[in-house]
Amino acid sequence: MSTDLEELATRAGRELEEATAQEILRWAADTFGSRLCVTSSMADAVVAHLAATVFPGVDVVFLDTGYHFAETIGTRDAVAATMPVNVVTLTPKLTVAEQDARYGPRLHDRDPDLCCSLRKVEPLNRGLGGYDAWATGLRRDESPTRANTPVVAWDARRRKVKIAPIARWTQDDVDDYVNANGVLLNPLLWEGYTSIGCSPLSCTAKPGEGESGRAGRWAGSGRTECGIHN
Ligand code: SF4
Repeated sequence: MSTDLEELATRAGRELEEATAQEILRWAADTFGSRLCVTSSMADAVVAHLAATVFPGVDVVFLDTGYHFAETIGTRDAVAATMPVNVVTLTPKLTVAEQDARYGPRLHDRDPDLCCSLRKVEPLNRGLGGYDAWATGLRRDESPTRANTPVVAWDARRRKVKIAPIARWTQDDVDDYVNANGVLLNPLLWEGYTSIGCSPLSCTAKPGEGESGRAGRWAGSGRTECGIHN
């Protein structure tokens, strides 16, 4: 089965490279049905909106790390209340208090790899267990580490098909889609944040003048990804 899915993903990655985001999601919905989900960080609802237009009722998976900004939880709740999607919230095995008791407080400052592993990677891997394919909002223009993101690929670690329907979009494409469709945005975007993750300053900060959109993530640490996409 996995081999079939791997071949399917590899072929689709080639054939859909020039397809629109809607065409890629249409293919995904037709191919996987309810075995497809969309993941969202709730920085915006662009991919959730795109997916809902071709697959109303699609599962939108949100990782609640316990460290989110209130605005991010509010965006999640607004998406659930106003869009034709089914928001699925995943949580880590340990609460923040339990993690603090076991590993000491502020693990995110001392060992972000372990913190992300406990609060993001493990819950996502567990939560994706019921799906064959997951769609993300990754874009090639976000950072050098994302520059080669395929529109469809085989996620060998999770043995799932991984879809990036807006991989080829630029920030201008995102802005145009948001404006044309009135897509929900996280209010923190108006405060100067360009990439929104967990609230500790060591994890999400506003980028400096002229810096790239993800420059505020784990700024100064050399860390660029949390382990979900790398
Ligand atoms: S982004 Fe920061 S707080 Fe969130 S899971 Fe990773 S290290 Fe922990």
